[in-house]
Amino acid sequence: MCVICRKEVTDDVEELRIYNCNDIEKIPSYPNLKELEIFECDKITTISQYPNLEKLSIKSSNIRTFPYYPKLKELQFWFCDKIKAIPYYPNLKELKFCYCYNIEQIPYYPNLKHLELCWCDNIKRISYYPNLKVLMISYCPKITLIPYYPKLKLLMIYDYENNNKLIINNKINIINNNKIINKITL
Ligand SMILES: [Zn+2]
Repeated sequence: MCVICRKEVTDDVEELRIYNCNDIEKIPSYPNLKELEIFECDKITTISQYPNLEKLSIKSSNIRTFPYYPKLKELQFWFCDKIKAIPYYPNLKELKFCYCYNIEQIPYYPNLKHLELCWCDNIKRISYYPNLKVLMISYCPKITLIPYYPKLKLLMIYDYENNNKLIINNKINIINNNKIINKITL
C-alpha cells in the first residue's frame, strides 16, 4: 500500500514518490505534478500525462511506455528492461539510464547537458548533442563511437572492455577507471 492507495494524495500534489506497492496499476493524472518517482511497483505498465512534469525517475521493470511531457527536464531510469524507445523531449537537460537492456539508441535532445549510461548492453549509438557538458559511460559494450560535442567539459568512461576500439572525437581529458588519461583521437 502506498500513499495513493491510502488516499493520502490531494489533487494539487506537486511531488510524488511511490515505493514498493504491488496494488497500484495506474497513477492518476494530477495537473500540478512536477516530480514523480516510481520504485518497484510491478503492476504499473504505463504512466499518465502530466502537463507540468519536470522530473521523472523510474525503477520499475514493467513500465513499457510513457507519453510526451512538454516541460520535462530530468529523466532517470533503472532496471527498465521493457522500454525500447523514449520520446522526444525538447527541454530535457539530464538523462540517466542504468540497466536498461533493450534501449538501442539515445535520441537527439537539443538541450541535453548531462548524459549518464551504465550497464545498457544494447545501446549502439548516442546522438550529437550541441549542449552536452558531462558524459558518463559505464559498461555499454556496443558503443564504439563518441561523437564530437563542442561544449563537453567532462567525459568519464568506466569498465570499458573495448577501450582500444572506442573512437572518441573530443579533445578532452578522459577519466577512465579513476585515472585521467589523455586519449585523444580527434
Ligand atoms: Zn499503493
